[in-house]
Amino acid sequence: MCVVAYLYYTGISFFLCLVYFHYCTFPSENLLNSILFSLSLSSSAYSFCYYRAELQANRPDGTACASGVEGPRKYLIGGNWKCNGTWDANDDRVTMFNSAGAIPANVEVVLCVTDIYIPMLLQSIRKDIAVGGQNCGVNKGNGACTGETGSHQLKDIGCTWVIVGHSERREGFGMAGETVGLCADKCKVAIDNGLNVMFAIGEKKEEREGGTTMDVCASQLEPLAKILDAKDWEKVAIAYEPVWAIGTGLTATPEMAQETHKNIRDWVSTNVSPEIATAVRIQYGGSMKGANAKDLLAQPDIDGGLIGGASLQADFFNVINGVPK
Ligand code: PEP
Repeated sequence: MCVVAYLYYTGISFFLCLVYFHYCTFPSENLLNSILFSLSLSSSAYSFCYYRAELQANRPDGTACASGVEGPRKYLIGGNWKCNGTWDANDDRVTMFNSAGAIPANVEVVLCVTDIYIPMLLQSIRKDIAVGGQNCGVNKGNGACTGETGSHQLKDIGCTWVIVGHSERREGFGMAGETVGLCADKCKVAIDNGLNVMFAIGEKKEEREGGTTMDVCASQLEPLAKILDAKDWEKVAIAYEPVWAIGTGLTATPEMAQETHKNIRDWVSTNVSPEIATAVRIQYGGSMKGANAKDLLAQPDIDGGLIGGASLQADFFNVINGVPK
């Protein structure tokens, strides 16, 4: 319906513009010119507004298929589009995902996109895919934080999730990176502002080789454990992302990933509480794709994934369908 309306009103705009440019000269000096010009502009504006309103009303439901194996925790598959996409490319992705078939009922799916495209997804992506940010400010509300997006604003626009502590932000890509304390503070502010957080942690290659993987993960979790209340943990998923596996095509083997996930869960049990350790979801991230998702997701302590490259493609749905059946 929205496409028909859009074409209809755009057609009128086109016709009026054509008449105007064909029969009239610029600058306009007679009444007819002015009327035609105004009409063409207003019908263009109307078609655009109408299109947006229709999109909001028509965000498709999506379809769920039977749940696969009910694990102790609902699987969480997050897509991280990073700084990728244009209006057209993202529009194509939305169309692709909207027609990609059913999402198993035991999976929660969220797409984290560049801030400026969040409204676009909130208007058009199927309702069974939540939308989130990839970062947020440490500011609690409005303020003098040029260039920042506050978690209160993500919440205001309709996001339900945000990624905090992604290794690319911890490292800084040419800027000062984010400290473990800052990541924990951001997470707390985002939760207080009503968002769920995928809290990313993980070791670098040399740290894994040096045998300090768990020390690194613990150092990233410690400030979080200090600042969160027990209730806050319901809003947190830990995304374990070995830095050496992100965007490199290298993936931790399912056994390696399981071992670290288990160690992280044990750490939470000792340092937070056994109940929270049982409940908290731990996602794996690092070159996860359709081809390796099934084996990774079959591990008892892997409760989902945080997916970069593959979430830009139809393969994202192979990851979603890789949950145990
Ligand atoms: C990520 O960005 O969090 C990520 C895991 O990227 P990729 O899947 O491309 O390795």
